[in-house]
Amino acid sequence: MSNISAFLIFGAPGSGKGTVGAKLANVTMGIKHLSTGDIFRGLSPASENGKLFASYANAGKLVPDEVTIQIFSRYVGGLIDTNKFDPAKQAFLLDGIPRTVEQAKLIKNTVNVKHIFVLEISDHSVIIERLLKRAAIEGRKDDIHESVVRARIDEYETKTAAVLSLYDSSIITKINGAQTPDEVFRDVLDAYIKFNTKS
Ligand code: AMP
Repeated sequence: MSNISAFLIFGAPGSGKGTVGAKLANVTMGIKHLSTGDIFRGLSPASENGKLFASYANAGKLVPDEVTIQIFSRYVGGLIDTNKFDPAKQAFLLDGIPRTVEQAKLIKNTVNVKHIFVLEISDHSVIIERLLKRAAIEGRKDDIHESVVRARIDEYETKTAAVLSLYDSSIITKINGAQTPDEVFRDVLDAYIKFNTKS
């Protein structure tokens, strides 16, 4: 994988990362939204990696680091090789990676992190309500059971939140993720514009 520039979006499950990530990529020039959850869900369920993903995701657990980075790197390499992403002209908005300190270390030499948006929601009941609603619409297995949702929140708080301490606080913007989708989008766009006018 060659050198790539990236914005990162952090937040517990249900904080709105996917929604706001897709919107930001739509209205900005040169940003491609990439969600590792989407990459994993796109794996054939019959494949070895597809089975491995399901065994972790259905329990609300993170997929092991090495295989995650391998799948991610291969996917990004494929986008570059097929002209769907040009590292010289574009940046990724990475949604869902890095999710552990080890992953951050593994991608450090190839991913140049420009800015980080963190969608914060302290009230777990807001998250649980949102995900149970999403389960009714999208039917994602890991949204259906409250115990799995709680396991995912726990993975975020114990493993992913710690990743932020690896980055300089000057490149991190915290946003209230409990707001409406429009308000969250406004705040993310505002932070992005501030970043862009500064650099
Ligand atoms: P998401 O769509 O981001 O909520 O991810 C859904 C599931 O995919 C997670 O609960 C994990 O099982 C898996 N996953 C996505 N990204 C990662 C990652 N960077 N590291 C490990 N597991 C991941």
